[in-house]
Amino acid sequence: INSKLPNIETSIFAKMSKMAADQKALNLSQGFPNFPSDPALNALVDEAMREGFNQYAPMPGDFGLRMEISKKIEKLHNHFYNPETEITITAGATQAIFTIIAAAINKGDEVIIFTPAYDCYAPTVELFGGNIVPIQLKPPFYNVDWQKVEDKISSKTKMIIINSPHNPSGMLFSEEDMLQLQDLAEKNNLLVLSDEVYEHIIFDGEVHQSASKFEALAKRSFITASFGKTFHNTGWKTGYCAAPENLMKEFQKVHQFVVFCVNHPIQKALATYLKHEKNYLKIPDFYQQKRDLFLHLLRRSNFKIIPSKGTYFQMLDFSEISKESDIAFAERLTKEMKIATIPTSVFNEGKSDFKQIRVCFAKTDETLINAAKILNSI
Ligand code: PMP
Ligand code: GLN
Repeated sequence: INSKLPNIETSIFAKMSKMAADQKALNLSQGFPNFPSDPALNALVDEAMREGFNQYAPMPGDFGLRMEISKKIEKLHNHFYNPETEITITAGATQAIFTIIAAAINKGDEVIIFTPAYDCYAPTVELFGGNIVPIQLKPPFYNVDWQKVEDKISSKTKMIIINSPHNPSGMLFSEEDMLQLQDLAEKNNLLVLSDEVYEHIIFDGEVHQSASKFEALAKRSFITASFGKTFHNTGWKTGYCAAPENLMKEFQKVHQFVVFCVNHPIQKALATYLKHEKNYLKIPDFYQQKRDLFLHLLRRSNFKIIPSKGTYFQMLDFSEISKESDIAFAERLTKEMKIATIPTSVFNEGKSDFKQIRVCFAKTDETLINAAKILNSI
């Protein structure tokens, strides 16, 4: 066939996890926890299956789950999404992102992304004939220069994609960033895709700045989040999209033909589990303990480290260790040191000017201790 994505290869996450398995290396590459999701939540899935929720769910998702999501967003960000018309349950955030872009992007539309960027945005935009306009953020702080963003906006700009807490850098958008974004989006009539999958993995008392918190921004935003990240079950692939009714209507037109609906018993279980707010309110502390342990263990390492402020990723700068490209360095670590990480040039359109690898610390304390022993010897 005539490839629609001629320059795209197998995703780095699949590649590095396979290399980790082949090399019997400790896998800190692809982002997923190596500890179980809450047995109480798993039991609720079992219960839903026993109760017979084994056929198709409603197309937009289980209504009880949509209601709990609506309540949670209103409680945390003071914005009401109508569960009838403004929330759809998806097969993870990946499917929400695909569906948002499919629904909103036409041939020739420009979409601004901030690089380093999560790997699915650009190919999906390309698939629907859109053009990516990348804006490079620079280590160590990855701050956005909003004047530069304004300069990149043209009459063709349709959408800006943001991601805070940010994969891979672990940085956050501040309230001021969101206000600047809101201002630009309003002035230029832009849509916003706000990827908030790490909304609950945030440290040092910082507050997640959801696009839903900003009234004018919420009116033009698709928000996506992922239960896999929040509740340690990435393999369940359950997330959602929230957007104002006019946008959600277009989203659902596409959603029904992408998957129609997603895993029913898991939705039932999540609806019950979300009723207890401590189940998500405890997540920041849980991950802060892991980040702090990991940073403490690495305090004398040769990597330069700026502590992650959110997500379960930590960037490690290896500029004082090696002159290799990040890909060569990560491959060598996997094969020789038996530790797998993610080279970050894959988030940067292949540019490897920054000597950074990304590690995932959503791991048991024992794994973090073993990982630190290896990393400290490099
Ligand atoms: N966005 C970002 C920034 C991510 O890191 C991930 C995790 N893979 C996703 C989206 C996709 O989430 P899901 O696994 O729920 O599809
Ligand atoms: N989001 C995860 C990461 O950044 C991986 C998801 C995937 O494997 N596609 O590592």
